Amino acid sequence: MIHLKTEREIDIMKESASIVGRTLAEVAKLIKPGIRCKTLDSVAETYIRDNGAVPSFKNYNGFPATLCISVNDVVVHGIPGQYELQEGDIVSVDCGAKKNGFHADYCYTFCVGHVAEEIRNLCDRTKQALYQGIEQAVEGNRIGDISNAIQTYVEKYGYSVVREMIGHGCGRNLHEGPEVPNYGFKGNGPKLKKGLVICIEPMVNLGRKEIKIEPDGWTTRTIDGLPSAHYEHMVAIRDKGTELISTYEYIEEVLNNR
Ligand code: MG
Ligand code: MG
Repeated sequence: MIHLKTEREIDIMKESASIVGRTLAEVAKLIKPGIRCKTLDSVAETYIRDNGAVPSFKNYNGFPATLCISVNDVVVHGIPGQYELQEGDIVSVDCGAKKNGFHADYCYTFCVGHVAEEIRNLCDRTKQALYQGIEQAVEGNRIGDISNAIQTYVEKYGYSVVREMIGHGCGRNLHEGPEVPNYGFKGNGPKLKKGLVICIEPMVNLGRKEIKIEPDGWTTRTIDGLPSAHYEHMVAIRDKGTELISTYEYIEEVLNNR
């Protein structure tokens, strides 16, 4: 079901989104070899609650943590545990927070220390693919225009797009309509209308597109064991045009000051 938002509701969502951006920046400060994923998770939960919000993912369909922390060949939904990050890892940190009844949900993939060029490129190009998708997120376009822009951009590098996991609408529910696949055809799917808020989130694999889910019911890995990158932003179609309501500003401030 698609729920269109008022201008005021989008402003409220921006506040939730700001908390997620600042939470991810707190996590970014700690990302280095030797840090335990569980530690990152508890720092994030404390930060979210201290800011008057609630972690969106905790207990969502039984998910046990605040963050999804997905290392290397884990595509998404990694459960933060005792694993300590190692030099050369890439780690996608996905975070959700709800305040004033509205959720925000977005994600950034970090490099831990020195990462092999091939894998750094995968991350940079996945982020670029996200921005290619965002460029198509304008009133009157269709979801397929976003999907196609992402798929076309990453496939030219020989990467593959995960099919089973996709972007989505967001609002009072963490996941709402419409579905926002990272593959598809221009001109297909629902039309983008004023009041629509969507999460665009390419999950891009260095190798094959197939994934497998572990017996824990969450941890999703590439079938070939090769790494996968994941970036997510939230865009709103507003009166004045498209606005990115999520922000990497706080994260990138931390990364640039390293
Ligand atoms: Mg999402
Ligand atoms: Mg997410």
